[in-house]
Amino acid sequence: MIFWVLCTVCAGIGLLIFSLQFGWWRASVSQVHARVLMYHMINYPKKKAKFNKLRVSPRSFQKQVRYLKDKGYQFIFMSELAESEENCVALTFDDGYRDNLVHADKILEEVGGKATLYLVCDRHGRDWSVTKKAKHNSGELREEEKLSDNDVKTMLSNGRWELGAHTVTHAYLPSIDRAELYREITRSKEILEKTFDVNVKSFAYPFGIYSDRDVQAVRDAGFETACTTKEGISERGTRDPLELSRVKVRGGESMLSFRLRLRTGRRK
Ligand SMILES: [Zn+2]
Repeated sequence: MIFWVLCTVCAGIGLLIFSLQFGWWRASVSQVHARVLMYHMINYPKKKAKFNKLRVSPRSFQKQVRYLKDKGYQFIFMSELAESEENCVALTFDDGYRDNLVHADKILEEVGGKATLYLVCDRHGRDWSVTKKAKHNSGELREEEKLSDNDVKTMLSNGRWELGAHTVTHAYLPSIDRAELYREITRSKEILEKTFDVNVKSFAYPFGIYSDRDVQAVRDAGFETACTTKEGISERGTRDPLELSRVKVRGGESMLSFRLRLRTGRRK
């Protein structure tokens, strides 16, 4: 008798933990609304690293994009979001890590996928994690290899990548004044367009932190879409194109978690 009570309690606790982790009871967001997925690095986790959540392994990424393809998702660039039809997914990569070319690009080629790269202009030798929190002084992101301009040109020429802006220095927007804000946002667009001879119409807020002032600056600079790090699926019709939510894909996440969040947009 006690045995069965214990079994029931354990099963109940297990179900509760599972439910809290995956939020399976949430209603699916209709496929009319495109999914915007957020990635940073496609690389193997490093021992004792602080930012392994930003490293999705190549094998996991391959499984994820194969799943998207098998489910009939159409891969779109951020510039195609406004006209997107049912069952669309926009993959986005923030910052400009070199593994986006070394690993992600090959895997995208396999499935006929494409993605938008939010590239920091002045990205070499910088540790932007310090900009936000001084205690993040491990230098981990500074040491991580970034894409060279030539790498980016290679990616753009193969048709699988579109460029978006992510400020000049990966600025922490709340800490800078108005003049600096315009420099970071407007200049980032100009620099990328001049360097790579492309139109840059999309922006991603560094750290996902921004205010109304920053949204206005992004609008004034002429961007058509802007991504936040707010978790979710922005719905067509009600969404603000300059404050788009994204489904965050984390390193070490299971396929079950990926599939459920693709459905609901959120972890919790
Ligand atoms: Zn970033």
